[in-house]
Amino acid sequence: MSNDNKTGLTSIAELGEFGLIDHLTAKFTSKQASTVKAIGDDAAILDYNNEQVVVTTDLLLEGIHFNLTYTPLKHLGYKAVAVNLSDVYAMNATPRQITVSIGVSQKMAVEHMDELYEGIALACDRYNVDLIGGDTSASLTGLTISITAMGTAAANKITRRDSAETNNLICVSGDLGGAYMGLQLLEREKEVFQSSGGGQPQLEGYEYILQRQLKPEPREEVVQLLDKLGIQPTSMIDISDGLSSELMHICTKSGKGCKIYQDKLPIDAETSKMAEEFKLEPIIAALNGGEDYELLFTIEAGDFEKLKEEKIISVIGHITEQEEGAYMVSASGQEITLQAQGWNPLEKK
Ligand code: ADP
Ligand code: MG
Repeated sequence: MSNDNKTGLTSIAELGEFGLIDHLTAKFTSKQASTVKAIGDDAAILDYNNEQVVVTTDLLLEGIHFNLTYTPLKHLGYKAVAVNLSDVYAMNATPRQITVSIGVSQKMAVEHMDELYEGIALACDRYNVDLIGGDTSASLTGLTISITAMGTAAANKITRRDSAETNNLICVSGDLGGAYMGLQLLEREKEVFQSSGGGQPQLEGYEYILQRQLKPEPREEVVQLLDKLGIQPTSMIDISDGLSSELMHICTKSGKGCKIYQDKLPIDAETSKMAEEFKLEPIIAALNGGEDYELLFTIEAGDFEKLKEEKIISVIGHITEQEEGAYMVSASGQEITLQAQGWNPLEKK
């Protein structure tokens, strides 16, 4: 491959569509027994024996879902896979394969695509999934990435949103609001950078919330822990749009209400500190901030003893009858009605 003299980058036109596909996918080898044939034919071939299959897909558009001014392409590739796998874990299933389709904008060179695929490969290795195909096209409107993930589980393990029962305990993994505060920090530093003509961003001391925003990890270990503890969750969802919104999904689909307690919500110290800098209540970030990719699930009350010592899981409330409504008891004892404030890019501003 020869380089463009001015930029030192390799133009995609030089490789052509098939050359680019070969170049990007050459290093991927299959790890899963269920992958019979991966990249290279009209379709991939999979064999899941007797397990049930879950399939989920996500579309990521430049300028809507990610901003290339502060998102390194390698992180973007990793995150694009991670958020898909999060949906598979949220079904209490194990991810097996992904497909990756890309729309490549004119400003992208082969080296940029290499970075993106490095991130994709890292996530595939970390979560033991195979890249089994995709599609590649030019794009006139910026970089587009669509990933589909396939996972499997025994039929009696798969966990839906619509099956929470009254008096079930509501549990959440990890901590909340960090990814949102990481995004606020990045947006702030971008503004400073643009208005000062290139001042260095102030990001020290906030590594955790930046990592929550730029390199989220799907909660594989929570699914494995529940299995080890012998707990079958009664319902589950991953937190992509904020706790409040996801809890409302479980309640609405299950025909139930809920009661959660402010002082039980897990919030990291860095998240609180950043929220205070922005004059924002940390609880708002925890309830409405998106992209934490923690798991929200319900369990039978009798399973409490099995997980009460697990630091990674917080019990934050319980499911009630639908007529009782969905609300949070604040630290001062007030009852605050929960609202689905999920981020809606289709909404007119
Ligand atoms: P077709 O003409 O059948 O759509 P393609 O030439 O688009 O086939 O793709 C050839 C092979 O490369 C297929 O196995 C396809 O799934 C895979 N592939 C195409 N684009 C990508 C991509 N961006 N990432 C991973 N695999 C890809
Ligand atoms: Mg194709």
